[in-house]
Amino acid sequence: MGEGAPKAVNDHVRKSMQGNKRANTKPELVMRERLRAAGLTGYRLQWKVPGRPDVAWPGKKVALFVNGCFWHRCPHCNPSVPKSHVEYWSVKFERNVERDRANIAKLEEDGWSVHVVWECQLKKKVIDDTMAELLPVLARQLGKPLAD
Ligand SMILES: [Zn+2]
Repeated sequence: MGEGAPKAVNDHVRKSMQGNKRANTKPELVMRERLRAAGLTGYRLQWKVPGRPDVAWPGKKVALFVNGCFWHRCPHCNPSVPKSHVEYWSVKFERNVERDRANIAKLEEDGWSVHVVWECQLKKKVIDDTMAELLPVLARQLGKPLAD
């Protein structure tokens, strides 16, 4: 937690914050399992380019971020906002969103293709739809055939 963080944060917030800095979160693992099943292997984790994409194929300059909805402020599922310290959180969230945007812009300027998949798009009910859209695009960019 950064300087000046309020002491009283509820469990949900604390959990999300811990999840933020950690690699190998559940959505990341689910994503990687799907990539392997589709034959899109050879990726590197947390590659050292702006934003440290969760999954990257550096040789092909293809990057994939798996974003937690709360922390990165998902545009799809309207994540909750903590009820107290509203000002603190809104500043923090704005910074996160801005940082994400800047990282993606830097990567794209450097010739990367960037994909962002949100945690809520990897839930059981919707993951098949999400991957049905994502995998063919990735396969094309990577020059790999998709496994069945
Ligand atoms: Zn979401």
